[in-house]
Amino acid sequence: MQIHDKQFKRYIDEAKIQARILEMGQVLTERMKNKNPIFLSILNGSFVLVADLVRACDFDAELSFVRLSSYDKLTSTGRVKMHYGLDDVDLENKDIILIEDIVDTGNTLEFFLPELQIKNPSSITIASLLLKPEVYQKKFPIDIVGFEIPNKFVVGYGLDYDGLGRTLRDIWQLDEKE
Ligand code: 5GP
Repeated sequence: MQIHDKQFKRYIDEAKIQARILEMGQVLTERMKNKNPIFLSILNGSFVLVADLVRACDFDAELSFVRLSSYDKLTSTGRVKMHYGLDDVDLENKDIILIEDIVDTGNTLEFFLPELQIKNPSSITIASLLLKPEVYQKKFPIDIVGFEIPNKFVVGYGLDYDGLGRTLRDIWQLDEKE
């Protein structure tokens, strides 16, 4: 499958993603017993995940979005920008479930967590569908991870390559034979 100038091969299919999201929802439901947390979805990539994950959870919750970016096409720039965020969201004494599509270097979260902490939440739980453990070198734990993957670029299920690929139902990996 081709997007722009790159070839991708199917890597995690829709059924496997959906089965794992149900499990992630069960873990969150257990952790959030008797709580009404707030899901905070980091756009753009996590918009598909958050829609599925909130419906895999058996509790009522608030939902809000922030938009951060650090990637330029295939690589992390190391500089994180907040395009819009937390101005009108009350997080005081709230249990936050932070939703990331993928954690790679962890720079995005390292930039963003202090922004959340100054809002005095009761707790912050980080959930990410994908984690690249070979690249991730930060100290803070990613509490709930869908799949650990190698250090290869992926698209689909919300993730893009230079703007395209987000609507794919499966996750596709860059085919480096090309
Ligand atoms: P980090 O700041 O942890 O290095 O990267 C987090 C962000 O980089 C993700 O939210 C995502 O936007 C982007 N990213 C990291 N790895 C990939 C990847 O393999 N594919 C795509 N499409 N985006 C990625």
